[in-house]
Amino acid sequence: MLPYRIVRWINDVYPVLVLFLYIGLAGVTFAICFLMPPAAIISLIFAIFALIPATVAWKLLKASEHFLARSAIRDDRCPECGYELAQDPDRTAVASNDDVPAVCPCCLGCGAAFSADGTRVAI
Ligand SMILES: [Zn+2]
Repeated sequence: MLPYRIVRWINDVYPVLVLFLYIGLAGVTFAICFLMPPAAIISLIFAIFALIPATVAWKLLKASEHFLARSAIRDDRCPECGYELAQDPDRTAVASNDDVPAVCPCCLGCGAAFSADGTRVAI
């Protein structure tokens, strides 16, 4: 549960962190573009090519979150709180998103629902 919650928190924060890093880099680049134009060009090229490892890292974080969630779901435990997942159809969540199955196992403790691939589903 704790590793899942840590990875999920990092996944929630990571895109905003990368966005603010890019905004900061744009500000620094704008500040130095008139003083040192080559440094601004290097900063621009770095920013463009840094998107590739940033995206790969985000995909790896998402995959690790889904892996941890699937392993907890296999044990009929909620990845968020460790409580038992509902198995009877009356206590499962009905997903409102078309991309996920119509019925997902729902936690009896915190109410979180997960799809079969480990994605947390909004219900
Ligand atoms: Zn739960």
